Amino acid sequence: MLRIVERTLAARAHSILEHLQATVDAAPDYQARVRAAKKAWGYKTSTKAKADAFQAVRQTLSSMCVGPIRCAYCEDSLADEVEHIRPKNFFPEHTFLWENYLYACGPCNGPKGSRYGVLKNDQVLEFIRSLKDPITPPPSGRSALIDPRAEDPFDFFELDLGGTTPDGVDVPGTFEFLPHEAATQGAQARARFSIEVLGLNREVMRVARENAFGGFRARLREYVEESWNGAPGQRLHDLREDLLSTPHLTVFAEMRRQKEYLLDIKALFDKAPEAEEWPLIATGF
Ligand SMILES: [Zn+2]
Repeated sequence: MLRIVERTLAARAHSILEHLQATVDAAPDYQARVRAAKKAWGYKTSTKAKADAFQAVRQTLSSMCVGPIRCAYCEDSLADEVEHIRPKNFFPEHTFLWENYLYACGPCNGPKGSRYGVLKNDQVLEFIRSLKDPITPPPSGRSALIDPRAEDPFDFFELDLGGTTPDGVDVPGTFEFLPHEAATQGAQARARFSIEVLGLNREVMRVARENAFGGFRARLREYVEESWNGAPGQRLHDLREDLLSTPHLTVFAEMRRQKEYLLDIKALFDKAPEAEEWPLIATGF
């Protein structure tokens, strides 16, 4: 998971979102607002103006995706759902809030719809509401789920790529996300909760990241070799775009961050230091 690069939503779409939110906020109490939010969301494309607004929302969110329109959470699947970072069934007041949206895939979006956590005394207090439970507001406090639009996930997680320790021992990587060792207790608790709710360490993801690591290394090596052999600028540009269009850009970002422990990767970055500065944003926009 990487921090999302912000883009501006068209003013017309913004004002339609505000109007929709106002209809939800006008409901008399919390329960009524939850129901109104659900209904308004269900009808969000029922007129041409609303459909156009949500088309703009989708286009702008897709331009904010890392890599080739990948899910903001897992980076593996195609992003095709407008996801509420704070679930609308808990926070009806954030249903049509632009800052509460990102583009995600169904498997990541689904499970978190009914699970919510807040941080209390450096621990995550989980709040689950099933369909038969009464509609009560979640506890107040800081949301435990990391918000990649407002926070840098790298402050919370690190990806275990393995590497060579300072005393020369080679350790294999698990390619799992781990809470960042240097983060506070509270930040580590939030990292663990986010990993679990989003299923970031499911086996298919772990294997995909391991494969991505090999792919990024091969592409970087190819770039370095051609660069040192005097390849023309257009060729180097194409090689760079190929690398940045590969899913799981977090793996590449972590290769940059952890290069001191990855001796073969460090040797490549030493020969092409510009690759450490390439922006990790959606290509083609
Ligand atoms: Zn996903």
